[in-house]
Amino acid sequence: MKDFNYIIIGGGCAGLSLAYELEINKKLKDKTLAIIEPRSEYKKDKTWSFWKVFNHNFNDCVKKSWEEFSINLPSKTKHLKCDDYPYQSIDSGLFYKKIINKLKENKNIVFFKNIKEVNQNNSFIFNSVPSIESKKNDLWQHFCGVEIKTKEKIFDDGIINLMDFNCEQRKSVHFFYTLPFEKDRALIETTWLSTMNDNSLKDYDNQIQNYINQNLKIKDYEIMFKEVGAIPLFYPLNIKEKNKLNIGTAGGMTRLSTGYTFLNIQEQSKYIRENLENIQNIKLFEISKKYQILDSIFLKVLENNPEKMPDIFYKMFNSSTESVIKFLSNKSNFFEDIAIISKMPKFIFLKELLRKR
Ligand SMILES: Cc1cc2nc3c(=O)[nH]c(=O)nc-3n(C[C@H](O)[C@H](O)[C@H](O)COP(=O)(O)OP(=O)(O)OC[C@H]3O[C@@H](n4cnc5c(N)ncnc54)[C@H](O)[C@@H]3O)c2cc1C
Repeated sequence: MKDFNYIIIGGGCAGLSLAYELEINKKLKDKTLAIIEPRSEYKKDKTWSFWKVFNHNFNDCVKKSWEEFSINLPSKTKHLKCDDYPYQSIDSGLFYKKIINKLKENKNIVFFKNIKEVNQNNSFIFNSVPSIESKKNDLWQHFCGVEIKTKEKIFDDGIINLMDFNCEQRKSVHFFYTLPFEKDRALIETTWLSTMNDNSLKDYDNQIQNYINQNLKIKDYEIMFKEVGAIPLFYPLNIKEKNKLNIGTAGGMTRLSTGYTFLNIQEQSKYIRENLENIQNIKLFEISKKYQILDSIFLKVLENNPEKMPDIFYKMFNSSTESVIKFLSNKSNFFEDIAIISKMPKFIFLKELLRKR
């Protein structure tokens, strides 16, 4: 069995982002890397979206960027501008292709299907396969999205609908998310914030069909692509070991109140690349403690008051849009945090803060 300086377990978003970051910064010129990935072919399997709060390596994989978004309750709609921090969608198919083509140029990088094919004893390991011990009451963001092509040009492709709460809540938190890529093409996603115990919430196909027919009033369309996912809104087990570091979802890169992970993965990759020579001694790269604490209170409020959440999300956007985007993207300062917290219903948050765990 061959020895490698580094092993990346899982060639998904985090594993490939890290390999790419190391390769383009010439960290693998005299070092060897094994990437362990069981999938037999890379093809588009999801769309990663986020507000672009900093530059990343994948601008050429952006399918579309928007400078406006809306959020709505059954009775009212807010239209907001985000020209300073455009909302971007990355096509995972383009992302995989770009990275695989780059990595192929370096003979020091080898892909394997199974970890048993390499010797792990003398390597530093970056692991992106999460170890999830989910409890009954753990919250998840679970969703299903379809990219549709319509007969008529009916979408306004200049604005996304971030959260549409004008749908059945079924005692949980539920919204639709619409990304219009073109006037006749959009990703429409049904999203739930709930435990995973209630299978009755998972009739995603029906939910989407009803929403497209009844809310969007579209009858004639074709489904071009479908994505289904569940993002844990709790941290997987993340124990630092001498020769191993968890990355991506496994390494706690999901912002628990939003599910956004992609840009955090890019920051983590950069941090690892900058500290590679001293990798065994560096401190874990984490989402800042401030957000960890605020998100845990937010999720308690969500768990115990699901019926209040549409209004709470809506009110959050009463603050300046720039501040909210920065807050949701882990980039807000103290004053922006205070401005957003002040828009939240204080009694409910205080009650959850004081509630015994
Ligand atoms: C459908 C979907 C849509 C999402 N959309 C967004 C979004 O819009 N914005 C955002 O910020 N985040 C989004 N996320 C969350 C997050 O960005 C993604 O889940 C992201 O792919 C996480 O990267 P990762 O490398 O941690 O996990 P993955 O990308 O899932 O990579 C893990 C890899 O490990 C491989 N693997 C599995 N088992 C083994 C094993 N035993 N040995 C070796 N390899 C193994 C898998 O094949 C996979 O390639 C989305 C998640 C999903 C599921």
